[in-house]
Amino acid sequence: MTGLDHIAMLEGVTALQREALVKVGTARSLASGDVLIRQGEPAAAMHFVLAGKLGIALGEPTADPIAVVGPGETVGELGVITGEPASAFVVAQEPTELLSLGEDEFWELVQTSHPFAVNLIVKLAERLRKNNATVSTNIEKRRLYERAAMFDGLTGIHNRRWLDETLHRLVVRHERDEEPLCVALIDIDHFKKFNDTHGHEVGDLVLTTVAATLVKNLRPTDLVARFGGEEFVILFPQTVPADALLAGERVREIVSQMVVKKADGAELPRVTISMGIAPLRHGEKPAEMLKAADVAMYEAKHEGRNRVRVAQR
Ligand code: GH3
Ligand code: MG
Ligand code: MG
Repeated sequence: MTGLDHIAMLEGVTALQREALVKVGTARSLASGDVLIRQGEPAAAMHFVLAGKLGIALGEPTADPIAVVGPGETVGELGVITGEPASAFVVAQEPTELLSLGEDEFWELVQTSHPFAVNLIVKLAERLRKNNATVSTNIEKRRLYERAAMFDGLTGIHNRRWLDETLHRLVVRHERDEEPLCVALIDIDHFKKFNDTHGHEVGDLVLTTVAATLVKNLRPTDLVARFGGEEFVILFPQTVPADALLAGERVREIVSQMVVKKADGAELPRVTISMGIAPLRHGEKPAEMLKAADVAMYEAKHEGRNRVRVAQR
């Protein structure tokens, strides 16, 4: 008995070699909380855990362990091979007995024991596979977050951030190809009063229905986003103002006929929208185009609401 009988990494290693290991290795006893390996520092030793428990912690030694290493397992082999700083802290979770091999003894063992070399390859391959799986999961998560960051949580349509990015791209493209581009800014009429009368939750329901109505009644190539509050923006690629006006008038009329029912089935009063349309002028920035649409929208408000105005420019 050498104390090394149950070490997975030593499976197949001869009894003679195990005895030699005990002689060249360093026996160590850790108390609970002792730090064996420090994150960010080189750790050129491999450790066989004979008894006890080691925790792998990220950031600081006292952090909750992300993994636990018990009797028969090993830590530190990657540090010996790469010579790079440790990627985590390794901390004793209870009194722990180790046999540690320095760099020279480790490589000596790799050279002289074929089973050990094979065991090592298998363990490293497992770790690689785990890392790859983590990377894929993280990429997938990031994609989901990025997607979520482009959509409005209430209405489910694209949000301001998406609009800013998309508008910028469209302006560059339409300038280059010398194609017409129009933008429409929409604001729900007297919506503060609507909220005050029916409550914010019912207001949210109407906002969501207006958003869905806009999306449903425009061409798939026209793009709709929530600009903020009770305001929406439509982008009309490859469209001249006269055609944007036709589409705008159509959705304005449809919204004014829209019936929204409360959860109890009661019909709500109709809401109307005011809209300002502006074409992209040569050399103009997205913000200038939006500003012109905003001015036109306010004209529509002043002229009595529930109407569409095209920017005079
Ligand atoms: P106008 O016809 O001039 O646009 O009048 P208005 O009352 O719609 O305009 P104002 O900008 O004064 O008010 C906008 C209101 O829209 C304020 C707020 O009550 C409502 N609003 C903004 N965002 C939300 C939202 O996310 N949910 C709900 N329910 N209401 C919102
Ligand atoms: Mg408003
Ligand atoms: Mg309003």
